[in-house]
Amino acid sequence: MDTTLQQTDSLLEAIAPAPGEPGREVLDPATGGLVGVAPVHGLAELEAAIAAARAAQPAWAAAGHEARSAALNAAAEAVEANAEELARILSREQGKPLNGPNARFEVGACAAWLRAAAATVLEPETVLEDGTTKAVLHYRPIGVVGAIGPWNWPMMITVWQVAPALRMGNAVVVKPSNYTPLSVLALLRVINQALPEGLVTAVAGDREVGAAITAHPGIGKVMFTGSTATGKAIIRSSAETVKRLTLELGGNDAGIVLPDADPEAIAEGLFWGAFINTGQTCAALKRLYVHEDIYEDVCRALAQYAAAVPMGVGLQEQNLLGPLQNRAQYEIVARLVEAAKASGAEVLLGGNPDEDQPGYFYPTTLVAHIDNANPLVAQEQFGPALPIVKYSTVEEAVEMANGLEVGLGASVWSADRDKAREVASRLEAGTVWINAHGVVHPMVPFGGAKHSGYGLEFGVEGLKHL
Ligand code: NAD
Repeated sequence: MDTTLQQTDSLLEAIAPAPGEPGREVLDPATGGLVGVAPVHGLAELEAAIAAARAAQPAWAAAGHEARSAALNAAAEAVEANAEELARILSREQGKPLNGPNARFEVGACAAWLRAAAATVLEPETVLEDGTTKAVLHYRPIGVVGAIGPWNWPMMITVWQVAPALRMGNAVVVKPSNYTPLSVLALLRVINQALPEGLVTAVAGDREVGAAITAHPGIGKVMFTGSTATGKAIIRSSAETVKRLTLELGGNDAGIVLPDADPEAIAEGLFWGAFINTGQTCAALKRLYVHEDIYEDVCRALAQYAAAVPMGVGLQEQNLLGPLQNRAQYEIVARLVEAAKASGAEVLLGGNPDEDQPGYFYPTTLVAHIDNANPLVAQEQFGPALPIVKYSTVEEAVEMANGLEVGLGASVWSADRDKAREVASRLEAGTVWINAHGVVHPMVPFGGAKHSGYGLEFGVEGLKHL
């Protein structure tokens, strides 16, 4: 443990509050040990950050695409140069293991998305040229963008918000989640090595700071990723200043397994689609619908795969699943699984947390023979507990999948791609994957349908919203 602390001390020291300034101890969700001390910023720091952003933005916009791309590539290099230290801070603060699709993967994604933003070009578009009239659509920066993020993928989502905003010539004020300020402050400390002063500032405050961003006349747009409830509050509070909004909100993604799928072949993909980041992923598979012909075989194959995936403290190299990030989320998962058990559903794996163990570990849990109306199916669990619902006809499965207000992602699993595409076309979700779930790419637009939000991120489409 000591060597790890030494390895992560330099960035953590750099972002710690100055003597006499307010600070808050951040504890490791896996061990309860101290990770570091985060500054506690308030409205005064927010005003200073917005003023600095407004001062820095015109020169940044005037610098042109090439200069901005070069700076974003330099930022990616800085992330890569500090990758291991960043991954260790992320692992200790968020809980996610270093390996698997977790901390090192997330830091790698930060560099990849910075480079993708640098490489993406959005040219003026001639939309009319008929001999007498020529009309050209230009994309201009908004000014100062507010970026408000969650605690599940804190570094990657910060880059998703910051990189395209910078690429288009904006300045950014970032409000990290209270649960994961160190990860975001450390990341921005590294990225800022490559950027002009004042252009990107993190204000590590609570929801009061977030709410102030959404109402502030000095901010032209808010990029928000978080829960649907907070998203609705932001829509309301941004109305007075008519802010542009990109809202990436909660989901409860359905996956439909068609009767021709091979249970053994899809088990690994289903597992990681659902349990990536220990289930704490917006576009994770959160409700699985399996045809009755192969229901028992899919349950068996999934349980066999899931039982072998190690969960534990993130800094231990062998682990691939970690704790829940915070007690509130742990309690949501525990409550939903208890409700499922009480209803008579069958727990195939897990469901029996060890209350004496330190940390917010909830075991990998699969629940079968569960009713579609059960809260574990109908509510977003955001943790390692997957309900598996049996269906008889595809119509019934589609109806159940579309039966909720949210629609972030969905997936269809089948040996026949054409058949899968036909079912996919009937699903109400921002993205529908075939034989995969939750895979994102910096050039493929991403965004929610229904109450999962509006606006798109990534690629050229993402730049158009900034
Ligand atoms: P949350 O809504 O509780 O908090 C998100 C951020 O909003 C935090 O920084 C918080 O401090 C801030 N905030 C809270 N109240 C605010 C207010 N009134 N005004 C402005 N800011 C405010 O969400 P969370 O619990 O951190 O994240 C989990 C949720 O996020 C899940 O529902 C998940 O599905 C969703 N999510 C969605 C995506 C996506 O891309 N659609 C990605 C990740 C997470």
